[in-house]
Amino acid sequence: MDCIFCKIVAGQIPCHKLYEDARTLAFLDIGPVSRGHALVLPRAHAVMLDELGADDATAIGQALVKVGRAIVRAVGAEAWNVLQNNGEMAGQLVPHVHFHIVPRFNGDGFSYRWNPRKLSDDDAAALKDAIARELGSRQ
Ligand code: AMP
Ligand code: ZN
Repeated sequence: MDCIFCKIVAGQIPCHKLYEDARTLAFLDIGPVSRGHALVLPRAHAVMLDELGADDATAIGQALVKVGRAIVRAVGAEAWNVLQNNGEMAGQLVPHVHFHIVPRFNGDGFSYRWNPRKLSDDDAAALKDAIARELGSRQ
């Protein structure tokens, strides 16, 4: 498979490894948006987050907390973001699930646009209904 992150997982391409366990790997991002910017990913190939099985999802959640805590302390960050892009339209460049850990510092120059609108009661009801059907549950 022609996936750059699978090649890193397989050791065919080098990385600045921070952490690994049976299901996950974390390494420094090669194009950091802040000092300590790192990626956490499942070893198993999946493109989007919703393709992950329960075991990989659990392992990724635990690795994010563990690695995020270590990075933030190591670089002395005041705050941090966890970012995760699914699909090209959402800004995903590498089609292998990964989470960005982005330590934040005063004046780091990193930003993204958040453009909130108003949630109507009608749409909230429609959304809850549609999503509950997908979840196989009723609220
Ligand atoms: P995304 O847009 O969420 O798919 O982010 C992909 C990220 O992977 C970018 O921040 C890149 O800098 C990073 N990246 C791409 N290739 C490598 C690599 N070989 N080693 C480390 N990070 C990489
Ligand atoms: Zn892959």
